[in-house]
This record gives sequence, structure tokens and C-alpha cells, in this order.
Amino acid sequence: MNLILLGPPNAGKGTQAKKLYADFKIPQISTGDILRKAVREGTELGKLAGPLMAAGAYVPDEIVIGIVEERLKEPDCANGFILDGFPRTTPQAEALERMLSKLGKKLDAVVSLEVPHEKLIERGSGRRSCPTCGSVYHVYQSPPKKAGFCDKDGTGLVQREDDKAEVIEKRLKKYDAETAPLKHFYAQRGLLKSIDGVGSPEGIYEEIKKAAGRA
Ligand code: AMP
Repeated sequence: MNLILLGPPNAGKGTQAKKLYADFKIPQISTGDILRKAVREGTELGKLAGPLMAAGAYVPDEIVIGIVEERLKEPDCANGFILDGFPRTTPQAEALERMLSKLGKKLDAVVSLEVPHEKLIERGSGRRSCPTCGSVYHVYQSPPKKAGFCDKDGTGLVQREDDKAEVIEKRLKKYDAETAPLKHFYAQRGLLKSIDGVGSPEGIYEEIKKAAGRA
């Protein structure tokens, strides 16, 4: 199964990608997760990406394209992959088409999770994450056992810079301007499946499996 999960920040792409991974053992390739790890580890990539991410801006196309190209060549992608947060711009989508054709792979579906903006802001602003291991919680929907601390390593939880309300709004504007047009790009290729992203994660997961022909 070769899938793209498309959707604005906080649409639930990461949660759904993790469920797909658990059931089908197909890796989730999240460019956001890869970049956040680089920021935590203080690598050259992290130093470049960190300030852009904190400001709600995109990391340059050539950098994320390079990351994904390398990742798709890894042996665990042989039976499929779930792209989460990539592509985000038309040049990225075009580059993906070229790299997949070079690798002899084809997309099965592009699932777009549709969630109204107000809901996205509410979800994002309640999110807290662990600066040590990257685990993510939500103050109401999935709180840690001890308020304010990571269940896994006890580190104090923080609100990510890019989860602050004003940054979320900026990210949503960017999504509408640069990423939402990809729906048209993939609709033209007969790959787009739009799904209502409001509701129980389990119900949404069933819809995604149907869209991917795996229900
Ligand atoms: P995400 O966790 O997917 O919402 O990504 C968090 C941040 O990482 C984004 O707001 C961007 O700054 C950066 N990022 C992740 N994926 C991409 C991408 N495909 N293109 C450009 N920037 C990206």
C-alpha cells in the first residue's frame, strides 16, 4: 500500500498513519517527525529547519525532497509507505512523481482529511509534547498520567512553538495557499479520496482503509 495522507496541521494524519503502521507494518514517513528529531539532536538540518518550523514556515523543497528520496530507498519501504506531511507543495508532488517512477513504485491513493479550521486550532493549542522523546499528548483528549509530565521518561511537557495559536493560524494559511492545491493535482490523476476528518479516530480509520482498498 503506497499512500499519501494529506491534510492541514492537526487533522490527525500522524495518529492515522500510526494505526496503519500497526496493522499493515508499512512505515510512516513523516517529514515533520524527521525534522523535529533533527532539531532535538541539533544537527545541521535541525539548525536550518528549527527557526522555519517555529515560525510556521515551510522548509525548502529541495531539502525535504532529499529526505524523502533517501527514506523511500530504505528496505522497509519495499511493501509500501505512508507519507504524512509530504508532499506539501506542487514542486514536492512533482518530485515525488519522478522519484516513484525511478524506483518503480506507484501511489495507490491520496487520502485528504477534511477538518474545519476552528477544530484544527482547538486541537493544536491543547497539544503538549515531550522535548526528550517527542511523545505527544493533549490536555483534554489524551492527557498524560501525571499532568504536565511525559509518561515515558518523566520530562516536563512543553507546548511546541508551532502549536501556539498564532503560529497555527499562519500554518493554516500556508496550507490553504500551498498545500490545498495538491487536492486538485491528485484529483486530476484519479487518486484523491476526501474523508471527513471530524469524528472518532476509529471511524476515520475505517474510512481510510476503505479509500485505500484495504477495508
Ligand atoms: P508537520 O508535523 O507535518 O505539521 O510539520 C511540522 C513543520 O515541519 C511544518 O510546519 C514545516 O515547517 C516543516 N515541514 C514538514 N514537512 C514539510 C514539507 N513537506 N515541506 C516543507 N516543510 C515541511
